[in-house]
Amino acid sequence: MMKPSESVKIQNSDGIVKSSSSRRRKSCVMRRTHSTPQPQRDEAQRRHEVKLRANRTFCEAVKFDRELLENVKGFLDPEEGMRLYDTALLAAGKGPCLEIGSYCGKSAIYLGTACREKNSILFSIDHHRGSEEQQPGEEYFDPELFDFASWRMNTLGNFRITLDKAGLEENVVPIVTRSDVAARMWSSPLNLVFIDGGHSYETALMDYNCWAGHIVPGGYLLIHDIFPDPANGGQAPFLVYNHALESNLFKELPMTKTLGVLQRII
Ligand code: MG
Repeated sequence: MMKPSESVKIQNSDGIVKSSSSRRRKSCVMRRTHSTPQPQRDEAQRRHEVKLRANRTFCEAVKFDRELLENVKGFLDPEEGMRLYDTALLAAGKGPCLEIGSYCGKSAIYLGTACREKNSILFSIDHHRGSEEQQPGEEYFDPELFDFASWRMNTLGNFRITLDKAGLEENVVPIVTRSDVAARMWSSPLNLVFIDGGHSYETALMDYNCWAGHIVPGGYLLIHDIFPDPANGGQAPFLVYNHALESNLFKELPMTKTLGVLQRII
């Protein structure tokens, strides 16, 4: 769901907290933009427009609500979402899928739509209290998702609105608790698990330990926010991804941007 900042937090005059690393990344992007020759900028723009057209065509082909996808809060790139959808299409016909980290439902649209096409179910786990990096004062805090009555984060309302608008209430089952609590009595084999919950190493590893064993041979394990270079993001998902590979239970499939895709082999 999120990539935690491991850098120093800086508060600007508006009270908005930003990390020094994200400020540095933005400035690097600006420098590249200013120094890029015109032909390369034209080519980049052409590719961007081709990508937008492809995304529109894709959304229309699978009857996605493009406006809904663009407006749902979340941190999933459209190409990563399409990879989730494609992988879930391969998995969902054989049994249920499960995601950890519902947030406001952006990934559930992609996974749940595939489940709907295969008459399957997506279990979507989230305590909806926000992960570590989404708490007040942290880098990814969103005041629109803060319940001032209980003084806690609450993303459940937004998630349910997303499911309703996407027509997925009969194919996505929200499980509102921590993933380790949900795992205590879990016994159903799973054909796909998508880990995108808390991004501390302890939480990400716990999610892996709780759920990887339920994936059937041939099933898929997807992990979001894989950053091999520490300069680009937090390392916890990448460490868990490597831990999964070292178990020899999974083989590595091509990544899509920061989305790691593994297939269980035994
Ligand atoms: Mg993520």
